Order: sequence, then C-alpha cells, then structure tokens
Amino acid sequence: MSYFPIDMPAPEPNMDDQGFWRCCAGKRLSFQSCPDCHTARHPPTPVCAKCHSTKVEWVQAPEIATVYTYTVIRHAGHTAVTTNLPYVVAVVEFDELAGVRFVTNITHLEPAEVSIGMKVRVWWDLLEEQSLNGAPVYIPRFKSERLAG
Ligand SMILES: [Zn+2]
Repeated sequence: MSYFPIDMPAPEPNMDDQGFWRCCAGKRLSFQSCPDCHTARHPPTPVCAKCHSTKVEWVQAPEIATVYTYTVIRHAGHTAVTTNLPYVVAVVEFDELAGVRFVTNITHLEPAEVSIGMKVRVWWDLLEEQSLNGAPVYIPRFKSERLAG
C-alpha cells in the first residue's frame, strides 16, 4: 500500500528529470553528476552550474542519508493527504554526494521522533495503479536507519 492515498498526484517527468525517474523505476536513487568537474547536483538541470558543461552522468546515492532540516505538515496542501496528517517533509543530504540535498518524506516515525542530524535509510514507495512509460512508479522516501528493509 502506498504511503499516501491513491489519488495523490504522481510525478510528471520533464526533459530534465526523466533520467531521475527512470532510475527510481529500478529502485536506484541517482543524481546527476558532471563528468567534467565531478560536481553532483539536484534537482536535475541541463547544464552544470559550476563549469557549464552539458555532459551528464548519473551516480547512485548511498542508502543512508542525514536529515539536514525538516518540517511537520499539519494542514493538507492537497485533499489526497488529509488522512495522512501530520507527516514530515525533510531535506536530506548524503556524506558521499556533497552539494546534493533532496526533499523527501520521513516515514514510519512520529514527527516528534525526527531530528536534524539523524540518519535515515531510503525505502521505495510503489504508487499502485501508476506507470511512467510502462515502468512502475517508485517514490524514494526515508525512515530511520535502524528499521530494516
Ligand atoms: Zn561541471
């Protein structure tokens, strides 16, 4: 069962982030990296902000991230999430990918259990009845690193 109800809107990939979602379909959390200056970036862009290269490679993120900051959502911004309140939206970062910060949800914890600096592990939330170009839609969300799987 998906974390959010089935009427939650699914991602609509654009030219820049379709590679990101293609990796997610294979349960690989991957970010763009510049092969010329080796700078990782997110969200995906057609040009490296550091050296202006248009070359792109995708590098897989580690499973463990660190909560950089977070907020607790107590008012539904979309009718689909009304039954999920409160929930946590966080920005996480990765030790091995300097410069990448990723907006996600911290799940399987009460909001009061989430803290800045805590280690979290990616898990893959399958959006049932959704597909992108025939591939399954998996959303990367995070939970405490102490929770298995
Ligand atoms: Zn670059």
